[in-house]
This record gives sequence, C-alpha cells and structure tokens, in this order.
Amino acid sequence: MNRSYLTPRSTAAVAWIIALLAFSTHAADRPDATPEQAWHLLKDGNERFVTGRLANKNVGPARRKELAAAQQPMAIVLACADSRVAPEIIFDQGLGELFVVRVAGNVSEPFALGSIDYAVQHLHVPLIVVLGHEKCGAVAAALEKERPAGNLGKLIDEIDVGQPLSTNRDEQLAGAVENNARRQAELLTERSDVIREQVRQKKLQIVSGVYSLASGKVQWMDAK
Ligand SMILES: [Zn+2]
Repeated sequence: MNRSYLTPRSTAAVAWIIALLAFSTHAADRPDATPEQAWHLLKDGNERFVTGRLANKNVGPARRKELAAAQQPMAIVLACADSRVAPEIIFDQGLGELFVVRVAGNVSEPFALGSIDYAVQHLHVPLIVVLGHEKCGAVAAALEKERPAGNLGKLIDEIDVGQPLSTNRDEQLAGAVENNARRQAELLTERSDVIREQVRQKKLQIVSGVYSLASGKVQWMDAK
C-alpha cells in the first residue's frame, strides 16, 4: 500500500518540472536587458573582434541544450547578406544571442519587417541594429542607377543612396552606404506599427552603423 504519492523519486520529478516551468516563464517574460545594456554588449563584442581577442563563448553543447526550450536574443540585427558581414562573428556573440535578418543592402522591406516585428512583439528584444557596410555591392548598384531585371532590380529599388556630397566615387559610395543605413533605420518605425509603439514606450531602441571590411570596426551613427 502507498503511504504517500510523493516518493523521493516523484518529489525530484516535481521539482524538476517546476524548475523547467520557471525557466520557460522567465525566458518568455524578458526583457532583462535594457536597450543601452544590449548596445553596450555589442560594442564590447565588436571591440574583441577588432583586436582579435574573441571570447568564443556560448556555442557548445551546453548552450545548445539551454536554448532548446526557448530563445532570448538581446538584439536584432538587420544586415547585408554579404559573406564578410556575419553579425554573430563581428559582434563576437554566441548561439541564441542575436536575432539576425539578412538581405542585400540591409533594406527594411516587408518580409524583413515581418521577421523583426516577430522578435520585437514576441521575444521582447530591446535593440535593433541596422548595419550597413563598406563597399556594399547592392548600394553601389543603386548609386550607379543600375536597374537589373527581376528580383534583384526590385531589391535595388529599396535602397536609398541620398544626395551625393562628393564627386569622388569612393566617397560617394561611403556616403550612400551611410545614408542607406540611416534611412532603413527610419523606415522601421515608419513602416511598422509594432516597432513604432515599442520605441514610443522606450522599450526598444534603434541604432545604425557601418561596418569596415578591413578594420572590422563598426562605426555607430546617432541612436534614435
Ligand atoms: Zn552589402
């Protein structure tokens, strides 16, 4: 006859289930990082990348297991698809730390916005980084007023190069990359009710920057 339903084994099982529930509730109820803290962590990570002192953290089996239940990224990065601009690497972050949306020219087009809206609304991510980069081929094509046929042409139409302030070709491209990153950051709040509301409540911050291919450094622009 059973003296109790709570044998040591079942007590341990109950404790384990409670711990699991507590973890998943915590994961779903973030944010625990403010926009400023998240930005600071990215600046530190980029500094490690620039100086070659990578932390190589949070990529092993233990981290994988920890993330299997839920994700809790600290920042969204809208970056170009260029193979040299991999956000997790240039910000020295591990698995599950960045919610990355990549499209050539880092444009705030509808599908990119849908992904970002999801991360803002459901994962409560406190920071969005719009990241342009030096010598971006997509921005260069827009600057040359090239209009390839098909999907590529539609993408290039989304890029905003602004007004050239120089006659030098390299300076023009650098200016266009910067203008496009700023403009795509502005478009996030213009085109998304979800993002605009979170920014209004100061739960979300949007920043933009330009990545230098040779130095690895991200040059930050004004925060919004
Ligand atoms: Zn690019």
